[in-house]
Formats: sequence, C-alpha cells, structure tokens
Amino acid sequence: PYDVLVVGGGPAGAAAAIYAARKGIRTGVAAERFGGQVLDTMSIENFISVRHTEGPHFAAALEEHVRDYDVDIMNLQRASKLVAGKGLVSVELENGAVLRSKTVIVATGARWRQMGVPGEDSYRNKGVAYCPHCDGPLFKGKRVAVIGGGNSGVEAAIDLANIVQHVTLIEFDSKLRADEVLQRKLESLPNVDVVLSAKTTEVLGDGQKVTGLVYENRIAGQRHTLNLDGIFVQIGLLPNTEWLKGTVDLSPRGEVVVDHHGQTSVPGVFAAGDCTTVPYKQIVIALGEGAKASLGAFDYLIRHAET
Ligand code: FAD
Repeated sequence: PYDVLVVGGGPAGAAAAIYAARKGIRTGVAAERFGGQVLDTMSIENFISVRHTEGPHFAAALEEHVRDYDVDIMNLQRASKLVAGKGLVSVELENGAVLRSKTVIVATGARWRQMGVPGEDSYRNKGVAYCPHCDGPLFKGKRVAVIGGGNSGVEAAIDLANIVQHVTLIEFDSKLRADEVLQRKLESLPNVDVVLSAKTTEVLGDGQKVTGLVYENRIAGQRHTLNLDGIFVQIGLLPNTEWLKGTVDLSPRGEVVVDHHGQTSVPGVFAAGDCTTVPYKQIVIALGEGAKASLGAFDYLIRHAET
C-alpha cells in the first residue's frame, strides 16, 4: 500500500504529492487529467513571483516538478469510489483496479457550470471567462456582462465595476438571489445595469473574440443584443466530489468539509483545493492547501499508522 495516495493532479494534488515524497514516504497520484483546470487556462498573471505564464506551460511545470521525485503517477485514471476500512483506505478506479493507502488526499477540483449556449465553447478564453479574480484586469475600460445574480455573480459585478467601463448583470429569475447587502452595494454603482428574467441564448463573436450576447426576455419573449468585450459566467462551481457521496462529509454545495489540517470526516482522508469548503478557488490557494493537507497526512501517519 501507499503511505499517501493523492487523487487528482491539479495544483493541489501536485503540491500534496511533492510534500509527501519529500518526506521519503511511498506516494502515488491518480488523476483523470494531470494538470487539472490549469490546462484550460490561457494566461495566468496572479501566481505570485511569476508575472505571466500560460496554463498548459504551468501544467507541464507542475508535472515536471512531481516527476523529479519518486512518485507513482497514474494519469488518465478516474476514481469512482472511496472505501475506508480498518487501517487502510481503498480507492476504486473506473477501470476496476483498487489502490490501497494508509492516507488519501482528495484533490479532485471543480468545474464551472456552463450556460450551454452556442458560442460559449468557441469563445472560451476569447472573452468568455469564469474567474473575475483571474481575468478581470484583461477587460480594463471595456464593457462586460456577468451571467448570474447569486452571491458570486453579484460579487463579480461589484468587483468588475471597479475595473471595467460598464457591467450588465443578467439574471434568469425575476429577482437577484444574492445577499441584501451585496444587492444594495450593486445598486449604488453608476456603471452597472441589471437585467432580470433574461435567458442568455447566444454568445456572439467575430471569429477572434467576443463581440456581444443575445438574451431573451422570459416574460415578453423579445430578443435583445448587447455589445460587449467580455462575458463572466457565474452560475455555479461544481466540485468533483460525486464519487465521495455517502463516505466523506460534504457541504450542501458538495464541497468536502475539511478542518485546518485538511482532515475530512474520515480518519486518514484529507482533502485540498477547489473540491473543499476552503473559500476562493485559486491556483496559489490550491497549492498551499495541497501542501497543508500533505503535512496533515504525514502528521497522521506519525501518530496513527504502523510502519
Ligand atoms: P483542479 O485544477 O480542478 O484539478 C483537479 C484534478 O483532479 C485534475 O487532475 C482532474 O483530472 C482530477 N480529477 C477530477 N475528478 C477525478 C476523479 N474522480 N478521479 C481522479 N481524478 C479526478 N486560478 C488562478 O489562480 N489564476 C488564474 O488565472 C486562473 N484562471 C483560470 C481560468 C480558467 C478557464 C479556469 C477553469 C480556472 C482558472 N483558475 C485560475 C482557477 C484554478 O485553475 C483552480 O483554482 C485550480 O486549478 C484548482 O486546483 P485543484 O488542484 O484544486 O483542482
């Protein structure tokens, strides 16, 4: 068995693997797609100490760094079940194999819910964005829309209003669902418009980048076109934790509940990164949390596991 088995090969998983391997203990990483969300990212400008890099480049560097150590990398492997037994934890893979380990670090990340309209896929990273902290500054002085009037959408609109020229917030429902205090702040901003009962039906572009969007008023049925440079989709971040249901405590949003050491509700099972309840889903945070969960697992091994 492994001492530490990491499930997930994004920033959190890579950091966890390196911290474990540096303790000289038996370490494995099983990942569906080594690199994680970073593979889908174009430019990264908020990884402190690196002024600018590109997602695929960053992902390759993560993998290279992990390969410097004695770590079993099992890429293209999807975990389907976790079973906590006496002493060892088992992770079942979709291909039928079962991996056993004294500790497991869950780092399976998350995915942004998509609108599922024409143009969204083809203009991703060309104006269609999901992370205001990451991509907001790219739209300085421009016109953008935020899709979604929950807390994250309204927070994004308030955040972007400081940077961009104008924000249109588009909400499907007849009212915003964000906290009152956020709604009041939003209303006080001169460069934000809110459109309610609106269903986005298409992302428009010129072949190179976004030029606007089409929405339909759900009551009157009319279609409207907005001219825009960017569209921030804020309709939910879905943690990749379906495979843990019934074994590890999850929050109502499906995030793995962790304590300050990254420990989950199951002894010996730790978690880190975007799949957890830790707020603010960012690379620099996922890396730190991965390191923390790994040290938590090492601490657990010292105290609990027989050698
Ligand atoms: P992920 O990166 O999601 O990695 C999860 C890993 O788990 C992957 O290897 C995945 O294949 C694997 N996995 C999932 N399910 C299973 C399973 N069942 N079995 C096995 N493996 C599984 N952050 C920034 O800080 N700066 C940016 O500029 C930035 N830009 C972004 C742009 C885009 C388009 C996106 C989508 C995200 C961006 N982010 C950015 C956010 C950042 O990518 C994430 O916060 C970070 O990648 C989270 O790391 P993670 O390791 O927790 O999860």
